[in-house]
Amino acid sequence: MLLLAWLAAVAPASASGAPPGRQVLVLYSLGADSASIWQQLLHKGLEEELARNAWTTAPGIFEERFDGARLGEDAAAAAMAPYLRAKYADVKLDAIIAENQLANRFLAAHPDLFPGVPRHYVNHGRRDWQPDDGSSLEVLPDFVRSLGVITQMAPAVKRIVVIGDQTRRVQQWLVSLRAAASLYRHRIVFEYHDRATFAELERLVGSLDRTSAVFLLPTGLDSTGALITPPTLARRLAAASNAPIFTSLQSLVLPGIVGGYVVSGESIGRIIARIMLGQPVDTAKVQGYYFDYPTVRRFGLGAVPSGAILLNRPGNIWDLYGWQIIAGLTLIVVEGVLITALFVALRDRRRTLAVLNDERNSLEDRVLQRTLELLMANTKLEQLATTDPLTGIANRRKMTDTIGAELERAARFGHPLSVLMVDIDYFKRINDTFGHEVGDRAIVAMARLLTASLRTIDTAARFGGEEFVVLMPETDEDVATIAAERLREAASAIRLAGEDGVQVALTVTIGVASARPDDTPSALMVRADKALYRGKKDGRNRVVRDGCVAARAG
Ligand code: GH3
Ligand code: MG
Ligand code: MG
Repeated sequence: MLLLAWLAAVAPASASGAPPGRQVLVLYSLGADSASIWQQLLHKGLEEELARNAWTTAPGIFEERFDGARLGEDAAAAAMAPYLRAKYADVKLDAIIAENQLANRFLAAHPDLFPGVPRHYVNHGRRDWQPDDGSSLEVLPDFVRSLGVITQMAPAVKRIVVIGDQTRRVQQWLVSLRAAASLYRHRIVFEYHDRATFAELERLVGSLDRTSAVFLLPTGLDSTGALITPPTLARRLAAASNAPIFTSLQSLVLPGIVGGYVVSGESIGRIIARIMLGQPVDTAKVQGYYFDYPTVRRFGLGAVPSGAILLNRPGNIWDLYGWQIIAGLTLIVVEGVLITALFVALRDRRRTLAVLNDERNSLEDRVLQRTLELLMANTKLEQLATTDPLTGIANRRKMTDTIGAELERAARFGHPLSVLMVDIDYFKRINDTFGHEVGDRAIVAMARLLTASLRTIDTAARFGGEEFVVLMPETDEDVATIAAERLREAASAIRLAGEDGVQVALTVTIGVASARPDDTPSALMVRADKALYRGKKDGRNRVVRDGCVAARAG
């Protein structure tokens, strides 16, 4: 049975999809039977179908709603005409769609509105009403299937309680329902309740057991005249009932209501979308099996028809937590990238630090090296400044300083201190006879003799030319004179090799002087020099002490 009859050619000429710029006005009743759930379902279907056709709702769709329930249907309709005229004066519409009875009646009553624009009426079960200026999409529940699915899913049911009200529409449906029920009369008892109060209905469903089922029509008017929306009554009955409640309209498939074979708001939304798109309409798709999954489970119902849509079904992990999983994985990846970046940065930093460290170490090494070199250069300079280059022993400057220091020590501790002034005899003659080179070797040989014969605390220096000074701490003049005599003798034993195998001999004269209290270096040296001078005058090759002639060699 085709419950949805499409009486006129729905689709305008263009079947090739929605031309851009197509503009459609939809008038929604939002009347007595149109709770917001129905509106949401319509819109869901509408938007899904438009999206499937890659068409967004903006900017070509215009929607207007009659607020009939609040304003009263007549008042809402009266205000609508001038409003639409003013608002859409400059809009060129391609189609007008009226959804449900209030909008239908309004549009049919205003043939002068938007002249020439094709009109489409969605008619929910008003068999006695037909428009004469447009196509009519007649939506009728399929009660044979709606009752059939109850017997299929709840085979133990022997009694079906039908709940409706006194509105014209429900009364028209009840006629169809009774006809369908006659098919099952030999095994199921049907009861019809269309004059009860809401409270009586709640008590009724509360008294039922599992051998009964409730079939709920969209009901909102009770016998006292009280008016509520059908979903509100459906919720109240769901809370009270001990038997499964089936229904005929998708907007009543709510938690606690089993569902059934219902007229689908989503499907009607899809059909409106196809009218907007100018596409042909498949009239067979306006109903379907819709169930509230937890309620099906609660009543232990089986044999759910294939292709049924199960609402409020808990999804798998991915459906339930997909976004959280993606967000979590994203976070992990981002964190990984950050940690890697940090790691790389730290590694680079470590490398840089290591390079800097090496650089600093090598700089320190170079500074140390340079310092050492400087120290060595200074030492060398110092040595150069205090050493005689020919003999390698101390020079006059060094000796003068040393005498000064030793004099001070001797004076402080009252210790003796002596000096020897040693001069090679007739040195000019050695130079002249054997050459300057032999003279130099004579000076070197003398220096060696001095350093070899002295104690470690004594020091020798070349004072100038062939003249030497020996400083002897802790030594009085007697001991110094003995030492000088030994030196004189040793010097006379020196033989230098001259040209043609000639042996060159030499002698020295030595002046001896000892420190006196309050002595100065020069005073001490002058006294030693005077002694030496006396030795020279007395014939050379001898030791003369300050004050008297000590010894004379043969
Ligand atoms: P006297 O016995 O009085 O000391 O006689 P002398 O010839 O040694 O006299 P004097 O001390 O005046 O002579 C020193 C000479 O030594 C003068 C100079 O030519 C020479 N002489 C000075 N320094 C050097 C030197 O480094 N090498 C050489 N070969 N000769 C030098
Ligand atoms: Mg001399
Ligand atoms: Mg001399």
